[in-house]
Amino acid sequence: MIQHGQFIMGPEVFELEEQLASYTNVKHCITCANGTDALQIALMAAGVGIGDIVITTSFSFFATAEVIPLVGATPYFCDINADTYNLCTKSLEAAICNSLKLKGKLKAVIVPDMFGMPADYKNIKSLCEQHNLILIEDAAQSFGASIDGKKCGSFGDISTTSFFPAKPLGCFGDGGAIFTDNDVFAQICRSIRIHGQGSNKYDNIRVGLNSRLDTIQAAVLLEKLTIFDDELKMRENIARRYIDTLKDKYVVPSISDDSISSAWAQFSIRAKNEPREKIRKILQQSSVGSAIYYPTPLNRTKPMEHYPSEKTPNADKVCDEVISIPMYPFLTKEQQNKVIATLIE
Ligand SMILES: *Cc1c(COP(=O)(O)O)cnc(C)c1O
Repeated sequence: MIQHGQFIMGPEVFELEEQLASYTNVKHCITCANGTDALQIALMAAGVGIGDIVITTSFSFFATAEVIPLVGATPYFCDINADTYNLCTKSLEAAICNSLKLKGKLKAVIVPDMFGMPADYKNIKSLCEQHNLILIEDAAQSFGASIDGKKCGSFGDISTTSFFPAKPLGCFGDGGAIFTDNDVFAQICRSIRIHGQGSNKYDNIRVGLNSRLDTIQAAVLLEKLTIFDDELKMRENIARRYIDTLKDKYVVPSISDDSISSAWAQFSIRAKNEPREKIRKILQQSSVGSAIYYPTPLNRTKPMEHYPSEKTPNADKVCDEVISIPMYPFLTKEQQNKVIATLIE
């Protein structure tokens, strides 16, 4: 319960930042108004702007790419792996190489962890180091996931997440956070989220945003954090059951090795033999919810189609075939049975 009137930047905000930093084992956590602002602030803090190129994948929520032109930079799209939905390192290598022929300076890569699964950071990190690129991890869907016990939100030079209600750690409205071990980036992010604030409220030292996390959302998140690991386990159990029962008829998410754990923000499948529309119709007739994340590759959306891109056959295919089925920690056994029976029928 909140017993004070500090609706903006109240003590719960700072308490939450401390807990999230410790949860991810990252030095600094800076909360903000939403996951899209988190990405924008990360780019601004990294000094990305006009004349710069930022590589990202062609398969994500629009915000992952949207922030790039928003700060004046040029997005460059690469393809994904069809089995993980995450960035394809071969395509990233090609994009790095081909971007050299373009006007502008390649500066950063934004990597989303799709549907909760961490991307291939071992290879992505080494490519970024080799080419002196800032790595930004978009962990909006993967908060709580990990590789070898290292949590998502800790893989980028700057990482971001979202607390939108449908994300693994959701609040009761909009919310987001930025994570970094870099003291300078952290200080700039803190300044940008409050109008480029300097040493005090009326000392504005740069152009920033109004992007604070509401105290009331921080209080909600502090409570939800206490059951978050239990919720992740519940999601994991449902995912295992879906994989076991559906893998013969559907392409199910592949977990490349045991060291990787997903936050299972979504559970997405592709039919091996049937058209998507037929499957969706059957699900609808049985009142089983389904959704399409995402119908269009980012490089084929109206605002993005004129930006440079590698060929993206995997993103194209996935957008035509993918279906997300109910995934929520408190999905009952009966509800799971109904989803499975309907899909196998
Ligand atoms: C939800 C989401 C965002 C944006 O988060 P908001 O809090 O809705 O602004 C960014 N990237 C990805 C991958 C997302 O899923």
